[in-house]
Amino acid sequence: MGGFRWGQAGGLPLLRVTAMESAGRVLAVFTSRRGGDSLFPFGELNLGEGVGDRVAAVAANRKQLLTALGLGAATVVWAEQVHGSRVCRVEKTPRACPQADALISDQPGVILGGVFADCVPVFVYDPRRPAVGLAHAGWRGTAAGVVQRTLEAMAAHFGTAPDRCVAAVGPSIGPCCYQVGEEVLRRLRDALPWDAELLRSGRLDLGELNARVLEHCGVPQVNRAELCTSCNRELFFSHRRDGGRTGRMAALVGILP
Ligand SMILES: [Zn+2]
Repeated sequence: MGGFRWGQAGGLPLLRVTAMESAGRVLAVFTSRRGGDSLFPFGELNLGEGVGDRVAAVAANRKQLLTALGLGAATVVWAEQVHGSRVCRVEKTPRACPQADALISDQPGVILGGVFADCVPVFVYDPRRPAVGLAHAGWRGTAAGVVQRTLEAMAAHFGTAPDRCVAAVGPSIGPCCYQVGEEVLRRLRDALPWDAELLRSGRLDLGELNARVLEHCGVPQVNRAELCTSCNRELFFSHRRDGGRTGRMAALVGILP
């Protein structure tokens, strides 16, 4: 689990991306399912809207998380994810970011949020600007190039050079629990022809695949949580394991004020 460490904030267990947080004034965390107000099958800390949980419970959970992190006054912008590759730049006065699976920002005090339950959370930190990016990479987003688009957008807007970035791949469904069909493999092979070796088996390691995409783009340090959301029932929601009716963990990343 290089570059990650479990910690606590306000009674909530949190996976901290120490590889980023130790490098500057940046927040980079991933939540567990423990500690919130939601009831079965969204118990306890469901942070995803539109998954069938009570709206009031999700709002209370999000508030509890931000208070625990000491971010009560911060602006959090949540990606409205659609398994695509659109990147939204978030500025000081954020607008909505519809149909965006990646967010980027260089604004201190703006926190980028995404929700996950098997898909791969990809964190990017450019300590030089400084700037951050957060991508939501399921197999469709990976095939659509969401990580490459995120790095391209950071380069275009912030002058970010991948070889100066720190990246991290958070918990996601592991090859132990993720069997995919030939059509998924074919679409990934078409998108990532340089990584055909990893795409031979139907037991897909989507976290490793995204780590290799980052390395292929020139990021020298890619940290991996190497935790399977499906195997770790006590810690994480898993869309596939739970038959689609489940909650969402959150990834948050931002430059602190
Ligand atoms: Zn597993």
